[in-house]
Amino acid sequence: VFANVVQAPEDPILGVTVAYNKDPSPLKVNLGVGAYRTEEGKPLVLNVVKKAEQSLINDPSRFKEYLPITGLAEFNKLSAKLIFGADSPAIQENRVATVQCLSGTGSLRVGGEFLAKHYHERSIYIPVPTWGNHPKVFMMAGLKPMSYRYYDPSTRGLDFQGLVEDLSAAPEGSIVLLHACAHNPTGVDPTPEQWEQIRQLLRSRSLLPFFDSAYQGFASGSLDKDAHSVRLFVADGGELLMAQSYAKNMGLYGERVGALSIVCKSADVAGKVESQLKLVIRPMYSNPPLHGASIVATILRSPELYHEWTVELKAMADRIISMRQELFNALQAKGTPGDWSHIIKQIGMFTFTGLNKEQVAFMTREYHIYMTSDGRISMAGLNSKNLPQLADAIHAAVTT
Ligand code: PMP
Repeated sequence: VFANVVQAPEDPILGVTVAYNKDPSPLKVNLGVGAYRTEEGKPLVLNVVKKAEQSLINDPSRFKEYLPITGLAEFNKLSAKLIFGADSPAIQENRVATVQCLSGTGSLRVGGEFLAKHYHERSIYIPVPTWGNHPKVFMMAGLKPMSYRYYDPSTRGLDFQGLVEDLSAAPEGSIVLLHACAHNPTGVDPTPEQWEQIRQLLRSRSLLPFFDSAYQGFASGSLDKDAHSVRLFVADGGELLMAQSYAKNMGLYGERVGALSIVCKSADVAGKVESQLKLVIRPMYSNPPLHGASIVATILRSPELYHEWTVELKAMADRIISMRQELFNALQAKGTPGDWSHIIKQIGMFTFTGLNKEQVAFMTREYHIYMTSDGRISMAGLNSKNLPQLADAIHAAVTT
């Protein structure tokens, strides 16, 4: 009965790892997937996560019972506090409905399905370019993905005028997806002044912000600084959605731990919204997994573990920033044609190199360097051993 099923293409991002795994060369380097690697090129389990896991194992009162549909209540509270700030008026006024979801992706999907069911506008404006999964997640949730200009290839910076024009022309009430910080794939963020202008524009046209925060703390090394854009929108008292992921900032990728928060106008509305979120979640996966959320709650509730986490997080962010500088220096030293200053200007996990599809294919073929075909490289996969190989490859790609 399934004989007519056609072979589906690989995922454009995760497919890079599939190709990498098939390459027998000892020289191969995977800069495709956005996962942190140490200077030794190894995946990292944060020390603070190991400590939290140990304390969970040692706790005799712990069971493996189901969580409620909305997840671990303490985790939800602490997650909202982390992104909105402990002194957030929305939290103090109990206007936030937070549910634990399956990492960032699950939070986006649950938020999308809630909007498709309960919001009057289906169009969701998504930046161009964006994380490749965004349009698919929202389409499957029943929304209508639309696009707004974001990146200008000629300046390798923000197309602020294009953004303003497109969002000014969006039908009133449309949903707007915003990357809270460290925009993926471009590494280009609005300045604080531009964020304020974006806020005014969205609020004046009743556009509904849907924030995606996959990199809090990873961009600058500061959890508060990386939440600036979101807090600006919460401070004006308006509504918004927030999808949070702990994949990168706690290195909990495979634990699938995240949260969806919906900031409402009153505690009464937030309660009703939460009741409807339960109806979205129950038929999808009943309730979320316990382990990852318990790790996060253990860390966020303890002032010592929290502090330790911020130190480890900053070390990851700093290593990425130093790789940016080293790559830039290496290309300068080689005299590679072109302006490569965007490598040090862009922030977060990725550099949007500006290399085209053919150049990317050349680098994979000749140098065994794997990256997405849009020229995005994960800076977190670089180290002082493989960095010269990448610089050689980029130099060869633009000069041959
Ligand atoms: N949003 C963005 C912008 C991302 O880059 C990612 C991860 N690459 C996600 C959401 C979701 O990640 P996860 O589901 O692993 O939390």
